Amino acid sequence: MPKAIIIGSGIAGIATAIRLAVKGYAVTVFESNSYPGGKLTEINIDGFRFDAGPSLFTMPQYVDELFTLAGKNPRDYFRYEKLEEICKYFYEDGLYLTASADLNEFAKEIEQKTNSSASEVYKYLSKSEAIYEITHKVFLERTLHKLKSYLHWDTLKSALRFGQIDAFRDQNKANQSFFKDERIVQLFNRYATYNGSNPYQAPATLNVIPHFEYHFGAFIPDKGMYSIITSLVKLAKDLGVKFQFDCRVEEIIYSADVVKGIRIKNSTIEADLVVSNLDIWFTYKNLLPKFEAPEKLLAQQRSSSALIFYWGIKNEYPELGLHNIFFAENYKTEFDAIWHDRKIHTDPTIYLNITSKYIKNDAPVNCENWFVMINVPANNDQNWDELIAKARQNIIQKLSRLLKKNIAEDIICEQILDPRSIEQQTGSYQGSLYGNSSNNQFAAFLRHSNFSSKIENLYFCGGSVHPGGGIPLALLSAKIIDDNLKFPKA
Ligand code: FAD
Repeated sequence: MPKAIIIGSGIAGIATAIRLAVKGYAVTVFESNSYPGGKLTEINIDGFRFDAGPSLFTMPQYVDELFTLAGKNPRDYFRYEKLEEICKYFYEDGLYLTASADLNEFAKEIEQKTNSSASEVYKYLSKSEAIYEITHKVFLERTLHKLKSYLHWDTLKSALRFGQIDAFRDQNKANQSFFKDERIVQLFNRYATYNGSNPYQAPATLNVIPHFEYHFGAFIPDKGMYSIITSLVKLAKDLGVKFQFDCRVEEIIYSADVVKGIRIKNSTIEADLVVSNLDIWFTYKNLLPKFEAPEKLLAQQRSSSALIFYWGIKNEYPELGLHNIFFAENYKTEFDAIWHDRKIHTDPTIYLNITSKYIKNDAPVNCENWFVMINVPANNDQNWDELIAKARQNIIQKLSRLLKKNIAEDIICEQILDPRSIEQQTGSYQGSLYGNSSNNQFAAFLRHSNFSSKIENLYFCGGSVHPGGGIPLALLSAKIIDDNLKFPKA
């Protein structure tokens, strides 16, 4: 039985472990933390449970696929439900929108409450669908690093329609051409942040993202986001995958351009195949220190990071839902602060996630678990303590103003995650959430491939390599490895 080693138990590492086990490999996952999941994790504070990282679950079919591949019924391991309401949006001028998953309801809401019409929404989302149809097979589901992908019939068909993917203007400009009301432009500009990018720079091709939510839907796992990880770990173990926690891999060993295994402290563990689920930056800098790194790829601009306050709240807010956004009054200024000044805007857009709206056990009776997140720049040694103290004040003032209640009185416990701790806890270079940003048209081509062209049997998965960050794409990176496995065959 050929031996495979996975370095890191992020979602893509676990998915790759499952795929290799199904193919007949003896798989061991080495993880430096004492728990699996990397960025996708949970914390418990004083009776409150929080999903600590991702909170929005889309494309659950990519998770289900792993169970089906293994001949198991996904519902024996993992359950989720489709959300009827995707998000609530609050604006400083008093506008309050509910984005229903029912497109007609959502379009009606926009037409009734803003200067934009329902037909603008339909036209926009049909463009979003067209971009998806043209791009998903070529840019998301296959490697961009083999000639065969470019000669594939799907690629040739898509190439004829590339003019329609809107790659040559920024997302904000495109959105302004669709919507009369600037507040709806803002609502759709926000989708650039789903992969840590800037809507005033990123190509309008990113307008594909709303299609994921409004066509396929947004979902919530019955036991919270972390149950995606616990159920996949269970599946992996059922397939014989071994996990070694508290085990930091220090080097990838290769000889004559063929991978031989890994080094942990002074011992070498041999393998026929090694997959790194680490951020690609640290894979080269730490695990392949003598190997010539692809510096141009590693020098690409990183995605934004996040500042998160996990607050236990001793009250219930019926006007809030699972996902809530409180928009900055001036969105452009906020992105200028993040991308040009590398600071935090004084009036940041706040994302508030409250899983206890659905999962009652996530908070004590009559309480709520608030995950309060703002976008912030990647870590470049800013004075975070000072920035965080100011941001906390600004967030409390903004939420209190828009909710018409002094929320500070309701906070009974708190924990904070910032770019430094994200880097430290998950090994993400500069604490970025999604690897590289997508702030230019060539970003897709400037992500590292899922295999090494120089060291045989060395592969790469996760949010910092092709096809990019976020749970669905990280899962696709595992699928691309599976589709391109060369040797050794089990
Ligand atoms: P990672 O999660 O990056 O895990 C890598 C693992 O490697 C870690 O466990 C780390 O400990 C381990 N490791 C590092 N170095 C070593 C070593 N030397 N030896 C052994 N192990 C090592 N995505 C969404 O789809 N929806 C969202 O709503 C969303 N929101 C997010 C919010 C936050 C705050 C964050 C942080 C991320 C969010 N994301 C979201 C992004 C998503 O979490 C990531 O894209 C995805 O989880 C990345 O998975 P990964 O497989 O790349 O591995």
